[in-house]
Amino acid sequence: SDALSQLSSLSSDQLQALASALTTEYQAHKDKGLKLDLTRGKPSSEQLDLSDALDGILNGDYTTANGTDARNYGGIDGISELKALGAEILDVKPEQILVGGNASLALMFQAVMQAHVFGFNGPESAWNKETTVKFLCPVPGYDRHFSICETFGIEMVTVPMTATGPDMDQVEAMIKADSQIKGIWCVPKYSNPTGVVYSDDTVKRIAELAKIAGPNFKVFWDNAYIVHDLTDTPKTLANIMSLAEAAGTEDSILQFCSTSKISHAGAGVAFLNASTANLATFKKLLGIGTIGPDKVNQLRHAKLFPTVDALKAHMKKHAEILQPRFECVLKHLNEAFGDNTLGAWESVEGGYFISFDTQPGLASKVVTLAAEAGVKLTPAGATFPYGKDPEDKNIRIAPSVPTMDEVDAAMAIFVTCVQLATVEQQLG
Ligand code: PLP
Repeated sequence: SDALSQLSSLSSDQLQALASALTTEYQAHKDKGLKLDLTRGKPSSEQLDLSDALDGILNGDYTTANGTDARNYGGIDGISELKALGAEILDVKPEQILVGGNASLALMFQAVMQAHVFGFNGPESAWNKETTVKFLCPVPGYDRHFSICETFGIEMVTVPMTATGPDMDQVEAMIKADSQIKGIWCVPKYSNPTGVVYSDDTVKRIAELAKIAGPNFKVFWDNAYIVHDLTDTPKTLANIMSLAEAAGTEDSILQFCSTSKISHAGAGVAFLNASTANLATFKKLLGIGTIGPDKVNQLRHAKLFPTVDALKAHMKKHAEILQPRFECVLKHLNEAFGDNTLGAWESVEGGYFISFDTQPGLASKVVTLAAEAGVKLTPAGATFPYGKDPEDKNIRIAPSVPTMDEVDAAMAIFVTCVQLATVEQQLG
């Protein structure tokens, strides 16, 4: 480890010796013939089991709090019990919540479609009236956000993530200089993939971006990990909707979350929080495509999570399963790179990912080396718009699905791959 902390001062003989020791170590990993996977940002079966009580929980009683039959058509914005739950999760007003199907991603897609094709304020406000539409994308970020932009032909402009959220000086300067920028993607708590929680100052500045942006600017506030804490003393996130209301910018905020990583990922419920005006517009279009959501599933969730406290107690059980896996990843990273510059990462206290930066130019190499030694990693570049990491350095690590032993084994191999790739680069 001494040698790795002073790579640049090693002679080429010393570098050669180090490379050959690491190659031996790498070959030993390879010979084990393991098949491990750190790509999947989804809950493990053990986590899904925690919500199996959903099955049969209604016991034949399909009546919602206000007396409607959940089995029938209707109720485009969801049942009132779940509006109340969503409102408590996000700390907003229940009348500013719409409860959808199992995917918040579908609500995001629909919100972009509303803004781009139809406009939130009538046809003249549609983004597609402009020659060019751009979004700010904090990077590294979530590839599915980028795919939505790509699908609508929205040009993506990157802005770096810092330990407190997107670099806000850059965000504000870019928005001031370019009225074609119509939106920004944000994962404000345990950001995918850096794990960062946006600071209060960052949230306030984002809430007020509409004041300096051109018309029809929208913040896509994807609060996917709002209750996904791994510690008992989680960092708090400022309330963007109340800050926006105070600033008179509430029509610029579209907030999303879901129970995907709370109950059953493929059979949960999603929430949209928006201003009264935006919600009315959104509901109108949604109602063209469906008569109403799966209210039976919503009612099942209302029974499983009668209060937000019940939901938070449930999240502690997820944390008990996840936390050791994250700790294991961080232990490997700290031991291997804590005292050198071979890698950089943020401390992570929630969410589903750990984001690792190699030295520039090495991420694809590391991903290939790991694959050849039996560890599947998310393709390098996936955390950037168009799949292109200009510095080829970011790798997203997702430890939720493998067992503890598998995480441990995979990280030992990962670390060796980073070391080997770095030393080989130094050798030239
Ligand atoms: N948003 C973020 C930041 C995510 O990481 C994910 C899933 O990995 C999603 C949204 C998907 O959410 P949903 O299952 O509600 O569509």
